[in-house]
Amino acid sequence: MINFNVPPFTGKEIEYIREAVDNQKICGDGPFTHKCSEWIEQRTGTAKALLTTSCTHATELAALLLDIKEGDEVILPSYTFVSTADAFVLRGATAVFVDIRPDTMNIDENLIEDAITDRTRAILPVHYAGVGCEMDTIMDIARRHGLAVVEDAAQGIMSTYKGRALGAIGDFGCYSFHETKNYSMGEGGALLIQDERYIERAEIFREKGTDRSKYYRGQIDKYRWQDYGSSYLPSDMNAAYLYAQLEMADEINDIRRARWDQYRELLTPLAEAGRISLPFVPEDCVHNAHMFYIKTKDITERCALIDYLKERDILSVFHYIPLHTAPAGIKYGRFHGEDRYTTAESERLLRLPMYYRLTADEVTYICDQVSSFYESH
Ligand SMILES: *Cc1c(COP(=O)(O)O)cnc(C)c1O
Repeated sequence: MINFNVPPFTGKEIEYIREAVDNQKICGDGPFTHKCSEWIEQRTGTAKALLTTSCTHATELAALLLDIKEGDEVILPSYTFVSTADAFVLRGATAVFVDIRPDTMNIDENLIEDAITDRTRAILPVHYAGVGCEMDTIMDIARRHGLAVVEDAAQGIMSTYKGRALGAIGDFGCYSFHETKNYSMGEGGALLIQDERYIERAEIFREKGTDRSKYYRGQIDKYRWQDYGSSYLPSDMNAAYLYAQLEMADEINDIRRARWDQYRELLTPLAEAGRISLPFVPEDCVHNAHMFYIKTKDITERCALIDYLKERDILSVFHYIPLHTAPAGIKYGRFHGEDRYTTAESERLLRLPMYYRLTADEVTYICDQVSSFYESH
C-alpha cells in the first residue's frame, strides 16, 4: 500500500528527544525550541520566529496582535484550510472570500481590492501547495489601504517568491509543523514577525499574558501578569523532533523536489493529450514540493480515479471543500464577487502521494496506474 502521507522521520529524532529529556527541560522554550526558532530566523530573514503549538495558533496570535474585533473583516480565499478563517472569526471578524486563480489555486490578487470596505483589516494570502501568491501586488494593495498582511504559509516553508522566503514577506507569516507538512513535530507551528514592535506583545500573548519570556532570558527578576493571553508554546520534546528535520531541510527538500519533477515528467504526456492539468509554478516562485496534484475533467472522473488507484494500493485524496459552502462559512463569512473557479477547480483537484520517504519506483508505479486509468477510460 502506498500511503498518501508518511510523517517525515530522519532517524535523529529519538536521540534529540532523549537529549531534551536528559536536559530535564521538557516544557516550552528549551534548547531545541531556541534552535528551531534560530533556524527559521536565519533561513527566512524574519525579525522573529516564535514556535507555537500549531499553525492555527500562530494565526490566532497574529489576529490577537492585530487587535481584531467584532465587526472587522478579513479577505481570504475560500479554497483554504479552516484555520485561516478560524483564527479571525474567533475574534469576531467576518471572513470575506474572494475567488482563486485557476493556475495556482491561490487567491486572485486582482480581485482583492474590490472586496475592501471600511471594515477591512487584513489580507490573508494562502500559499497553496507551497507556491507563492503574487505578493508584490498584495503588499502594494495592503500598504495603499492601510491593511495588514498575514501569510498562511502553512505549506510554504523553504519556498520563495522573488527570492524572499514565504512567511517572511507580509507583516506576519504562519508555518505548520503538522505531520502532513514537509517538516513536522506532530502538531506545531511558528509565527514569523517582520515588525519588531510586535515581538514583546507576541511573547506575552504566547506565555499566558505574562512576561515570562523576558524572565527566562534574565532580563527581569520576576514575571507578572501583563495582558490577556493563552498558552501557545510547544514542549521542547516536540521541538527536538522538529530540529532533527530542520537540520536536514535541504536534503528533504531536494528529495521532494526530485519526486515532484518525476511526477511532472511522467504525467506530461497525459497533460499534452488534454486529459489532465498539471500544477503551474510562476517564474517568480521557487516551491518546496509540498504537494503534487493533478486536475481531472470533473468530479465524477476524479472519484473514479481515486477508486481505481485505491484498487491498485495507492491512496490519493481530494482537498478543501470551499469554506463559503460549509456551514460555518455561511454563518461567519460571505463570498465577494463571482465563484468562477473556487468550486469548479476544487472539484477537479486530486492529490497524489507525496512525502520524504516516497521512492522513485513508487512514483513510477503511481504514474503508470494514472496513465492506465486514462487508457481504459
Ligand atoms: C495545515 C494547514 C493549516 C493548519 O496547520 P495546523 O498546524 O494543523 O494548525 C492551516 N492552513 C493551511 C493552508 C494548512 O495547509
